Formats: sequence, structure tokens, C-alpha cells
Amino acid sequence: MVEVTAYIGMGSNLGNPQQQVSLAITELDTLEGCSLCRASSLYASPPMGPADQPDYVNAGAEINSSLEAEALLDQLQALEARHQREPTRRWGPRTLDLDLLLYGDNAIETSRLSVPHPGITGRHFVLYPLAELNSSLVVPGAGMVETLLANCPRDGLVKIETQRQSVV
Ligand code: ATP
Ligand code: CA
Ligand code: CA
Repeated sequence: MVEVTAYIGMGSNLGNPQQQVSLAITELDTLEGCSLCRASSLYASPPMGPADQPDYVNAGAEINSSLEAEALLDQLQALEARHQREPTRRWGPRTLDLDLLLYGDNAIETSRLSVPHPGITGRHFVLYPLAELNSSLVVPGAGMVETLLANCPRDGLVKIETQRQSVV
């Protein structure tokens, strides 16, 4: 069975966000055809888009998966639904957001999926966790995470100090 290394970006700003994200990290390991390799620290960030919502907790995770990219998206969306994510305005508040950032070195454009995720390059709350996982990662079409990070100000992004180990 061929396994692909994929990177997942996580965010939450409703319903105890720190707990939502920490739990989601462990749940990634239980998804069909998926195993968790490592997870980043948790980060706090001001909301992107509408400002009238709570701050976010973000993290990144590296997984191995035997699933095709869209089947992996199905699993991620099912996990969001189990966290009672409800439809809202664009970039509105949510209990859990799981974005498929990278799927091996594949570039994918379908009606449901853009990979690499188009938000990687300009979002500090995506790049800092990714760099923690693997700074020599290459984002197809955009370059090394380390280089992207050097051009991405930390702004209001703050690492949350927890007891949880950054490598699981
Ligand atoms: P953004 O994608 O800018 O971070 P968002 O996470 O708030 O915004 P969602 O409402 O979670 O957006 O997702 C909208 C749609 O984006 C999903 O239904 C999914 O089909 C599509 N999508 C495209 N590419 C991806 C990807 N790489 N990961 C997750 N969803 C994706
Ligand atoms: Ca997102
Ligand atoms: Ca999303």
C-alpha cells in the first residue's frame, strides 16, 4: 500500500478551541488509512477576515495516509462535522477547521480541492506550525517553508505553552 505524507492545518475559535485542536490531533491518528507522525505546538492568532469573532487556536500535523487526496478530504470533513462545525459566513467562527495543506509533492486542482492549499504562503498561523514540523519542506510552486517563513511576519501569532509534547 502506497503511503503519502500529508500536512494538515488546524484552527478553532469556538467551544474551547485549545481542547478542540488538541483532541483533533489525536483523532487524526484514528482516521481510516491515516496515522499521525507528529504535531506542532498550539498557537493563538487574531482572526483572519471578520474581526468580530474570538481569537483562533491553530496547529499543524504531519500524517501518513494511504487514502487518495479527496478521500482524505472526506475524512477531514467528517471529523469537522463530529466537532459540530456549522456552516457560517466566509472565514466565520468555527469549532474546527481542517485544511489539507500538502499531499506529498502533488499539485491538485479539482472542484473540491486545491493542493497545496492556497493559504499556505501568506498565513503566519499556517507557516509557523509547518516550519516546526519540517522547515525543509518544499511547497510545490512556492518554494521552501523556511524561505516563505522568512518573508512572513509573526504579527499577532503567539505560541501557547502547554504540557503537551510537541512531538507525539
Ligand atoms: P480557507 O480555505 O481560505 O482556509 P476555509 O477553511 O474557511 O477557508 P472552508 O469553508 O473550510 O474554507 O472550505 C470550503 C471548501 O474548500 C471545502 O468545501 C473544500 O471543498 C474546499 N477546499 C479546497 N481545497 C481545500 C484544501 N486543500 N483543504 C480543505 N478544503 C479545501
Ligand atoms: Ca482554513
Ligand atoms: Ca477549511
